[in-house]
Amino acid sequence: MTLGEPGASTAFDLRALLAARGGERYALHAQHLNHQLPRMLHTIGFDKEYVRARGAHFWDAEGRDYLDMLAGFGVMGLGRHHPVVRQALHDVLDASLADLTRFDCPPLPGLLAERLLAHSPHLDRVFFGNSGTEAVETALKFARYATGRPRVLYCAHAFHGLTAGSLSVNGEDGFRDGFAPLLPDTAIALGDLAALERELRHGDVAALIVEPVQGKGVHAAPPGFLRGAQELLRRHKALLIADEVQTGLGRTGDFYAYQHEEGVEPDLVCVAKALSGGYVPVGATLGKDWIFKKVYSSMDRVLVHSASFGSNAQAMAAGLAVLSVLESEEVVAHARAVGDLLRDRLAALSSEYELLHEVRGRGLMIGIEFGRPNSIRLRSRWAMLQAARRGLFAQMVVVPLLQKHQILTQVSGDHLEVIKLIPPLVINEADVERFVLAFRAVMDEAHDGGGLMWDFGRTLVKQAVSGR
Ligand code: PLP
Repeated sequence: MTLGEPGASTAFDLRALLAARGGERYALHAQHLNHQLPRMLHTIGFDKEYVRARGAHFWDAEGRDYLDMLAGFGVMGLGRHHPVVRQALHDVLDASLADLTRFDCPPLPGLLAERLLAHSPHLDRVFFGNSGTEAVETALKFARYATGRPRVLYCAHAFHGLTAGSLSVNGEDGFRDGFAPLLPDTAIALGDLAALERELRHGDVAALIVEPVQGKGVHAAPPGFLRGAQELLRRHKALLIADEVQTGLGRTGDFYAYQHEEGVEPDLVCVAKALSGGYVPVGATLGKDWIFKKVYSSMDRVLVHSASFGSNAQAMAAGLAVLSVLESEEVVAHARAVGDLLRDRLAALSSEYELLHEVRGRGLMIGIEFGRPNSIRLRSRWAMLQAARRGLFAQMVVVPLLQKHQILTQVSGDHLEVIKLIPPLVINEADVERFVLAFRAVMDEAHDGGGLMWDFGRTLVKQAVSGR
């Protein structure tokens, strides 16, 4: 028998392994992985056993149907198990390609780059890595090398990933604290062109990195900011980096969120998450020809920025299938229409519910912000939560949405009274109705001022106060 041939090994059976030990999932995490995850999930009653998924839904062992308004932090842009993506992955495995020889030029990366670049015709080249943060690291390195300058500007509350370079342009202390020293980067407020110009005058700025719609809190760059920033950056010979890791590939109702504003042409664009089809991690950094030519300026420098798994055939196949579906099924236009519907339906509720302060966002990236109520009856309850910790009310909403209505959402950042909705772009009107109905029921209970929801709020307060 030859090693590596079918039949050479019978010892591994994935299905049998899952059947035998799937029930240990929480214990295994608690013992071998980040132990706080199962602990947190037990605390808020999110410790489910999901067994099957399709599109924007998944099911637990009892057959209950859950609506996914989180899309795996945005990676499930097309929902789970899209048949076209699955087929592409079966096909690429069945093709038994000579992948990752590292010393040839396989066709799939070239084809995916060509297809991606068609959506941003002012850009010329692509670097493929394996995640969002790696796409950002690439952009930071390329910007520094191409401009010969050290400093990158970023926006307050920005999120660009959690590796050291990306962390240096993270706008939240909660993520940064204890990980110093970071790169010598500088934050400005989102939309503050005067601060941008002030920093640029120092002459040491390589780039500004910006999420056109920030994930934390769901704040869109104010109208005119991206174009104004681009003008200032060009004048000072610095680059504009658009981080489209979350917003790209149709999430906000445009292919890229920067395209919402006419005339914006970032020098570098970071893509990841949904390009994976929800299956194969991938990151892409798109950029102008001169930037790549500078970084890869000689044959000696051919590997100066590279990744062992970058451009692997499975990731490329998934990416090609995702782009094909986005185009053939007109998913971007669908996301815009369904997003408008969902946002309008939710915004209409703000006159009914005093705790509901604002509904904002673009396409299927929606923020629901809660705030101080007017009535005396609710004000003391609100004050009790705020005194313990900001963000507890939003948590109080997320929990019954899952527990009672089987809808998965998330609080959009630490200490924020904002829920973020980033469902798979394939949700339909029935899903919108289901969400609105459930949200109304939760808001009714919250405005009632009693019941289980506020009991849970008191539990959260106790936990926050005891500092765990
Ligand atoms: N950039 C943005 C805007 C993101 O939202 C994220 C992840 O949430 C990242 C970068 C990092 O991506 P990854 O988690 O794939 O490293």
